[in-house]
Amino acid sequence: MRGYEAQCSRENCPETVFLPESNPLQPFEVQPYPPTGTWPLLFVCPLCKHPNTYTRDYFHPTDRPDRRLEDAVYEGLWFLTVQCPENNCGLLLRLHTTASSDSDAVDVARTIYPAIQGFRCEANHNLNPENRIAVIQQPVLVG
Ligand SMILES: [Zn+2]
Ligand SMILES: [Zn+2]
Repeated sequence: MRGYEAQCSRENCPETVFLPESNPLQPFEVQPYPPTGTWPLLFVCPLCKHPNTYTRDYFHPTDRPDRRLEDAVYEGLWFLTVQCPENNCGLLLRLHTTASSDSDAVDVARTIYPAIQGFRCEANHNLNPENRIAVIQQPVLVG
């Protein structure tokens, strides 16, 4: 299956993240994985838990065997949405990671939550873990 891959940006982490091509009508340059978010893509490395903020330049096109055709369980793309807790901001952050398609949403959240403070909202606010960060959308499998 066609898609795009990028290296985790933490030094010495061997993880390569894969985004399946979702909708050829919406070019990857415009949106990495419609409708889960726009550039930059916020992605938590499933291996080292590093919060990656990817621009388009990190990715290159690739082709992987589509294991979804053979296996009931596969490595899928998950995302969740949280809200910036800064006063009067309220911007949404759409965080992605990869995990087994049969994962429990609670376990996926456990991978993502510790990385949240490493991201910034579009208004450039740090996500201070001392503020209450509202979860708008629990982790869901999208790809
Ligand atoms: Zn990593
Ligand atoms: Zn904000």
